[in-house]
Amino acid sequence: MNQKAIRIAVLKFAHETVTFLPSDTTIDDFTYPGSPAKGEALLASEPDSYIGGFVKVAREFDGVELVGIESPLWSKRDTGSGWITNDAFEHFVGRMVEELAAQGPFDGVYLSLHGAMGVRGVPRPEAEIARRVRAAVGPKVFITGTFDPHGNEDEEFLRHADMAFTVKYFPHYDMYLQGERAARMLVRAIRGDFKPANVTVKVPIISPTVLQWTGASAWRDVVQLALTWEARAPDVYVNVFFGFPWCDGPDAGMTIQVQTNGKPELARKVADDIAGTAWRRRDELLNAATIYQIAEGVTLAREAVAKGASPVVLADYSDRSGSATWLLAEIIRQDLGKTLIATIADADAVAELLAAGIKPGDAFVRAIGGKFDESAGEPVRVSGTVLAVSNSASGMAEDAWIVVGFGRGNVLVLSPVLVQVKELVTLRTRGIEPADFDVIAIKSRVHFRRGFDDSGFAKTILLVEPAQPFMGTVHLQSLPYKFVELEKYYPYGAPAFG
Ligand SMILES: [Zn+2]
Repeated sequence: MNQKAIRIAVLKFAHETVTFLPSDTTIDDFTYPGSPAKGEALLASEPDSYIGGFVKVAREFDGVELVGIESPLWSKRDTGSGWITNDAFEHFVGRMVEELAAQGPFDGVYLSLHGAMGVRGVPRPEAEIARRVRAAVGPKVFITGTFDPHGNEDEEFLRHADMAFTVKYFPHYDMYLQGERAARMLVRAIRGDFKPANVTVKVPIISPTVLQWTGASAWRDVVQLALTWEARAPDVYVNVFFGFPWCDGPDAGMTIQVQTNGKPELARKVADDIAGTAWRRRDELLNAATIYQIAEGVTLAREAVAKGASPVVLADYSDRSGSATWLLAEIIRQDLGKTLIATIADADAVAELLAAGIKPGDAFVRAIGGKFDESAGEPVRVSGTVLAVSNSASGMAEDAWIVVGFGRGNVLVLSPVLVQVKELVTLRTRGIEPADFDVIAIKSRVHFRRGFDDSGFAKTILLVEPAQPFMGTVHLQSLPYKFVELEKYYPYGAPAFG
């Protein structure tokens, strides 16, 4: 059967903003070789993630034309910078809207978003993007988005857009799948086969991300309930936003969205069931992980090694700048051996050392890390030998790693920006074999479980934090919120719900 050709615009603007970081995210952070991207380059920019899945399925339908609208790719400082400037937001969204007008008309728009974007002067950035895109393309065009479960969203996005599809797992295993789903549902909606009927429910729970691992109860159970609802009725699509408390906005906290094919009562029933379950189990959600102070964690790591329960992962969940030295200092103080520290971010040190032509075999004596703000601690002096100077495939200075051997078989990786090591392959491609170490100290909350836990690699996993409640802390009451009213959320207040 011949069907009318349809045109779909593809846009991306995604950032997970830690609004408490002192350095704003600017146009420059999103501008580098390859970014912004448009046309086929945008469509090919993330083959294993949201856009890759979207493009794959959209092109399985006959008569679908995809148009890549100029979009910034992921920030070169990853999540290591604060508020996006109003300038940057206006610049990139302004370009998108201009291009939508120039290249239209369209039948559909796909927005590849994150959900925890923080922009100065824009309270709900993703909803604002949807609002402006709606104004540009008109009321009849279907708009869908994909999201990260750390999004802070409320009903505002779906006021302007028709559909949203959010990753279910943390680590985020199903980004490609949600991209595929967004494409299929968008084409179906355009062709009249799906009539979006949505319900959004805010659940007044705010939680630090280190607790939100979906490999363990009760987070796993809430996600499983969402999957069960998707399985038991045709055309039910559930989004569970866990929320991202380091983005200070009015829509923080947990959100459930349910989408159905023209059945608002069913959407309501499913949303209430999942929201009610999350609320009933709020204590379990808030106590889903054990966290040790760094000194105790390092001692436990020593004991685990002595008992043969290695490799041990020491995961400093709290470091939001990448420069924190608390764990490194304690590893030196307790004289751990065969320990890999990956990484300490120190852009100045990396730039100076590269400029000086540092090479393997050189002596290394230097105080590194810290300084960034009080949460990063003091610089720590390390004396050793340079083992390697490596760049990743991109060849960009931002990716340079300086690998230093010191102490009793220890290896320290110095990087210019925050690095969250999620996979063993990240280390192996830089010539570091993780199995050579008894202890691996990393900066990650949950994503590392992909490579270190779900794979069975680590025998012992210890989540650690500094004694002081710094920026990345689970003790959210110590964060200087301007827009989040903590007393409206469990466990900081006693909100009425259900
Ligand atoms: Zn996330």
